[in-house]
Amino acid sequence: MSFPIDLHCHSTVSDGLLTPEELVAHAASKGVRVLALTDHDEVSGLARARAAAEQLGISFIDGVEISVTWKKRTLHVVGLHIDPTNPVLLEAFAKVKAGRNDRARQIAEGLAKAGISGAYEGARDIAGNSILTRSHFAQFIVKQGHAKNIKTVFKKYMVKGKPGYVNHEWMGLEDALTLIRNSGGVAVLAHPGRYDLGFVNMHLLLNEFRNLGGAAIEVVTGSHQPPQYDQFAKLAHRFGLKASQGSDYHGPGMSFMEMGRLPALPSGCVPVWQDWPEASQLQ
Ligand code: AMP
Ligand code: MN
Ligand code: MN
Ligand code: MN
Repeated sequence: MSFPIDLHCHSTVSDGLLTPEELVAHAASKGVRVLALTDHDEVSGLARARAAAEQLGISFIDGVEISVTWKKRTLHVVGLHIDPTNPVLLEAFAKVKAGRNDRARQIAEGLAKAGISGAYEGARDIAGNSILTRSHFAQFIVKQGHAKNIKTVFKKYMVKGKPGYVNHEWMGLEDALTLIRNSGGVAVLAHPGRYDLGFVNMHLLLNEFRNLGGAAIEVVTGSHQPPQYDQFAKLAHRFGLKASQGSDYHGPGMSFMEMGRLPALPSGCVPVWQDWPEASQLQ
């Protein structure tokens, strides 16, 4: 049985394949009734998505997925109910965007040394006006015939130790949580099962995240295997954190999970949407 709320997905404004309008229509067609759009470090799709959601009669939550560096690792923190017009938030994301552009130049240099030329221009072409992500490079590399699919590209070129990987310093955890809180939002640690942190660091992270004002962790996500749902439900409970769910949908053929297929949170979880008027029809 699926549960019709999805609080994590991407549009063409970051590295998704569907425009904000197409994404909302897709969610609605798959039975999602409460949706948050959470593009990477970018909020310019939210007004478009909200307008589309209003037309289709589904509830919409303004969201974002912020890239964070914590103990030399990259983590993702989702902000929900943020104010997309908050000037401090917009200024911070403008800086991240510029940083992404510099990183993209370095990624392209690395790829050139591995025999893949023109990657900056190629990725820029695919991204258009949106932020430049590793996914855009991956799409370019597949298009050029250097690898058969996105998954293979990441393995061969885009992860730590490979020619298209660049160590990048993202925002600190405290800065990300402050930004989210000051723009009226709540912070959710995205797909904790993906970080390969080990027991001690996972506990350190959850403790720090909660102490800095973090509200919830993703328990049910397209990035978790089903046995991890219970594992992270228990951790949420232990650290006094609420639970969230989201597909992390990026578009057809680019995602682990289709929209509208997420199971309900394990029993005992406190949903992050517990007090939200937009989700009251789901309780
Ligand atoms: P970036 O924020 O530019 O480093 O890009 C990260 C994005 O790349 C993630 O949000 C995913 O969409 C995508 N990604 C990361 N690792 C993989 C992978 N192993 N396979 C497919 N996509 C991935
Ligand atoms: Mn992505
Ligand atoms: Mn993520
Ligand atoms: Mn995501």
